Amino acid sequence: MTYRGRFAPSPTGLLHFGSLVAAVGSWLCARHAGGQWLLRVEDIDPPREVAGSAQAILAALPAFGLVADGPALFQSQRRATYDVAFERLRAADLVFPCWCSRAQLAAEDGIHRNGRCVASPDPERPPAWRMRVPDVVVAFDDALQGPQRQNLREVAGDFVIRRVEGYYAYQLACVVDDAFQGITEVVRGTDLLDSTPRQIWLQRCLGLPTPAYRHLPLALDAEGRKLSKSAQAHPVDPADPLPALRRALAFLDVQTSAATGDAPALLASALERFDPARLPRLAARAV
Ligand code: GLU
Repeated sequence: MTYRGRFAPSPTGLLHFGSLVAAVGSWLCARHAGGQWLLRVEDIDPPREVAGSAQAILAALPAFGLVADGPALFQSQRRATYDVAFERLRAADLVFPCWCSRAQLAAEDGIHRNGRCVASPDPERPPAWRMRVPDVVVAFDDALQGPQRQNLREVAGDFVIRRVEGYYAYQLACVVDDAFQGITEVVRGTDLLDSTPRQIWLQRCLGLPTPAYRHLPLALDAEGRKLSKSAQAHPVDPADPLPALRRALAFLDVQTSAATGDAPALLASALERFDPARLPRLAARAV
């Protein structure tokens, strides 16, 4: 089976160091395996979207030498496919409508459990739709972080797959599209490690294959917080890609040749020395 990896940014801001690390890490794993590297724009959350950022991210990647095998998939154009997956879950009675408010869930730390809604149905208001999550432990072996186990009901509860506003949740869209794109290994940041059991559960419920997972360490800021777009992390500059690309490779402990060159040359020299088994595991300050 051909290795297929992907980078799946949300267009909530410009490409920043943390997402460059995920892009470079997933690209290196795919190229090292002689496989393909695909892109997916996760534009399913219009209220959080920053206008123009999807195009800016897609335009920035080639400047860093990160060229995908084919055009990007846009989740905003995939609604009909998510509808089919949702209907399949509904037909199997694996989802239920929920009118619970945040206040009603506060006593349970915001987590909804036991597969039933404590609020009364409100014909005036559309519901959110939740998975009916049983008392089940989902286990998987992360290629970098090692064996993982999560009691899904305890940790995630009856998670939302379609929001009140009618948008599909990241978990559902991600699972449907990883399968659609034929992804064999998901390489992304450890901020998504605890989403993975929900995604594996959805794959089982939908009869979709489970890819391998490799969660990369997070880049932290000086205060030890995750560098993220929402925290206004500095965007990386595609007009001057080498400094950020060198930092991303150093963060992933990948050696490069001392020779100077452009971004594709730097990536090529990194690829020669790259060994996925030697990636660092723990979060660290962005270098
Ligand atoms: N869209 C997510 C993000 O930008 C990544 C999702 C994934 O890799 O599964 O954080």
